[in-house]
Amino acid sequence: MKTDIRIYHGDIVFAPSAKKLEENEDSYIVVEDGTVSGIYEHIPDDMKALPVTDFGRNLITPAFSDLHVHGAQFVQRGIAMDCLLKDWLNDYTFPQEAKFKDPEYGKLCYDAFVEDMLRHGTFHANVFTTVHRETSEYLFHTMEKKGMYGFVGKVNMDCHCPDYLKEDTDRSLRETEEFLAGHTRPGKVRPILVPRFAPVCSEKLLKGLGALARKYQCGIHTHLVESRWEAATALECFPGYESDAQIYEKTGLLGHGPSIFAHVIFPTGQDTEILKHYESFAVHCPEATNNVIAGIMPLKRLEIEDVKVAIGTDVGAAGSLAVYRQIAKAVQLSKLKEFYEPGEGKTITLAQAFYHATKQGGELFGKVGSFEKGYRFNALVIENMEDPWSPLSAAKRLERFCYAGDDRNIMERFIDGVMLPKLA
Ligand SMILES: [Zn+2]
Repeated sequence: MKTDIRIYHGDIVFAPSAKKLEENEDSYIVVEDGTVSGIYEHIPDDMKALPVTDFGRNLITPAFSDLHVHGAQFVQRGIAMDCLLKDWLNDYTFPQEAKFKDPEYGKLCYDAFVEDMLRHGTFHANVFTTVHRETSEYLFHTMEKKGMYGFVGKVNMDCHCPDYLKEDTDRSLRETEEFLAGHTRPGKVRPILVPRFAPVCSEKLLKGLGALARKYQCGIHTHLVESRWEAATALECFPGYESDAQIYEKTGLLGHGPSIFAHVIFPTGQDTEILKHYESFAVHCPEATNNVIAGIMPLKRLEIEDVKVAIGTDVGAAGSLAVYRQIAKAVQLSKLKEFYEPGEGKTITLAQAFYHATKQGGELFGKVGSFEKGYRFNALVIENMEDPWSPLSAAKRLERFCYAGDDRNIMERFIDGVMLPKLA
């Protein structure tokens, strides 16, 4: 079959490593069958006859990856942000999630959630749902239909939570297996296990999920040492275990597909060793950290210890699905951490935060999040990030977008090289 070759001109910027942004201003990116084949200052001779789509001085950047987001909490974004985690869960989040028993309610929320992710340029997402299987299936199929890359998990929780969400352990395992067994065919959206966090799961449930992880090689997504309350309660609920991460390791949940841990605010040495050993992702959600968690991930320390770091919004504990805003907030929080705990050099650059939100987080989904040869052209075109009388470099315009831009500055969106229709 004939290769489909597309050429786009603009100011191309991406982060091949955490060290720096690569800027290719006034350049051409060539995309063959949806995959980047090269970036050139001039169009190669053998392609000169092909049409070029010209985006002028607008930025062409990789799309974002959100490695920790709760689809069912989209409807409560920016609400009850003056609570801390325990009250926020009990008073707002759990009653809200209970409504996803109603398929019609679930559809309305998940349609809006997926549309808003696309609007903000997030094409790859690792999503918590609720304990309800039917609405979780709906989200899975909606993300598939839109061409997104993703992981979707039906939540498990069988203790220390309100009766209206508490699952019977055997039924929870049975429904989870049905969810996994229904999605064994390879695809861009895949199922994953999501025990909510250790304090609301029994040992029997986690061991049962461990057996499913081994059988389906599907991986796990959960919260880890996210607050002092959660970290202490996890160990009270699991006597004999030495750390939060060891609870998942000893119940057989690690080493069978990807492992993604949200927050990782207070990791012990053992937590860090386990994350490193299983090549897990630690997901930094800076705004949620400000709002309901009250702690800051030791991002620089995890980087130094070779733990993979990604970025998440953790909506509803954040006000928006904009991953680019989390990039700015990650830089801001690193300065606060340095201020209050001086001495180790904790500040990070915009390039570092952008790398975690694109290429490193994108690793979970395949070759997405960069424009090196062989990566899928999952991309955004961003406009209007400089004043006409004061030109800025591509890197500076990207930085301004993270701090001051919004979805109205995203003029085009591409998934697998295909331009998405304009959003309403
Ligand atoms: Zn969360």
